[in-house]
Amino acid sequence: MASEFDIIIVGGGAAGIGAARQLAADGKAVLLLEASSRLGGRAYTQDLGGHPLDLGCEWLHSGDRNAWVGIAEASGFPVDRSDPPWTKAHPSIARDEDAEEAARKAFGDWEERLAQVAQGSDRASDALEAGVKWNAYVRAIAGFMSGMAPEQISATDYLAYDDASTGKNWNLPLGYGTLVAASLPSSTALRLATPAERIELTAEGVAVTTRVGTVRAGAAILTVSTAVLAGDAIRLPAGVDPWREAAAALPLGRNEKIFLEIARDAAFAPDSHAYGDLRDPRAAAYSIRPNGWPVIEAFLGGEGARILEEDGPAAGFAHVAAELVALFGSDVASAIRPLAATSWSRMASIGGAYSCALPGRADARARLARPFEDRLFFAGEATHPFDFMTAHGAHDSGLRAADEALAALRDRHRLGRRDPLAAA
Ligand SMILES: Cc1cc2nc3c(=O)[nH]c(=O)nc-3n(C[C@H](O)[C@H](O)[C@H](O)COP(=O)(O)OP(=O)(O)OC[C@H]3O[C@@H](n4cnc5c(N)ncnc54)[C@H](O)[C@@H]3O)c2cc1C
Repeated sequence: MASEFDIIIVGGGAAGIGAARQLAADGKAVLLLEASSRLGGRAYTQDLGGHPLDLGCEWLHSGDRNAWVGIAEASGFPVDRSDPPWTKAHPSIARDEDAEEAARKAFGDWEERLAQVAQGSDRASDALEAGVKWNAYVRAIAGFMSGMAPEQISATDYLAYDDASTGKNWNLPLGYGTLVAASLPSSTALRLATPAERIELTAEGVAVTTRVGTVRAGAAILTVSTAVLAGDAIRLPAGVDPWREAAAALPLGRNEKIFLEIARDAAFAPDSHAYGDLRDPRAAAYSIRPNGWPVIEAFLGGEGARILEEDGPAAGFAHVAAELVALFGSDVASAIRPLAATSWSRMASIGGAYSCALPGRADARARLARPFEDRLFFAGEATHPFDFMTAHGAHDSGLRAADEALAALRDRHRLGRRDPLAAA
């Protein structure tokens, strides 16, 4: 039976959209299946209180080599290249600068010791110095970066990202999610709210089954998160077990955001930053009035994000409200109102924030990125060798998988009946 599509992409996040753009440029007939009712996945801008706020990715990390910058500029999206607010401490907070300096130094020392640990246990917690009082701060910052406790972070993996990062963090005032969702080529056939339930190999390529029927194509590109891949939501050919095992070695960390509305005039300086309790591993990082908007965004990682996951949004709001009162004084309690809280880890179609290799398992990224039988190709942030955890790494992984799929289709076409699977 002839296939209607050359390639089926499963998942409409940054990786799936990156793959679709590459395939459209090659003139291929592409179907994108997305489980949820919107495009973007972990790139999601929502209008909250009249402002485009990013619930997932927000920063164009490594902006000077980030593919989304070029895509934004080509489509007329403004790119803000100024320094991010976390470089500008809020002016009115009574700060203990000695303690901040000591905490930052403890974090820098921990990062330096990671190279040594990578040669041995590879367990990032082994780079913590016993009894150092700033370990709580190191845990909180490692939680922001990886979403995990240091016990579950591969030092090799952490350093691969860190070494490749250019340190340029740019911003999209209209929202990263807005850009990603707007970037699917119009030639791509899109089915929202249509999860892939089963993928099988066929003589012609693949058959992907959804609740509304089965679609066939020459190849499929699977871009779902590692949590989805390691779970049982999609039935895959039995031979794919090593890929599932690689996905399980790259679990998604916990990172969540809480948005608060500044409900009346309060002394919050625009485009500034504050950090919660230096001695609490659950501390949040606060972006105060981004773009001048009357909003505070709290970013929680690791143990802090677990408050939302395990105890729900009310507990999360209570935690950040208490931290803000400690920072700004009791007056602010009546000036802030809950606006929204994310729940990435509870979403069945995502299951967390971004991937983190377990100690000793940094090689799982390359294992996950391998094609299966030249019919099934794997993309998604977790498959990038060093820009994992990011939307630009996801995009570039989509390009890589699209190129692999195109090469496989060309080879199959060239070999014709000599392809053993085609002859089956
Ligand atoms: C709180 C938070 C903050 C972040 N901050 C940043 C940041 O500042 N900068 C940055 O670069 N990155 C950031 N990230 C990470 C970034 O958002 C992700 O790395 C990236 O968006 C992942 O893209 P992806 O395409 O690999 O996966 P996803 O975005 O997860 O896309 C996979 C898609 O597959 C769909 N899907 C799942 N199951 C099925 C199925 N059975 N059938 C069909 N579709 C399915 C999902 O619904 C989803 O849309 C952040 C993430 C979070 C959660």
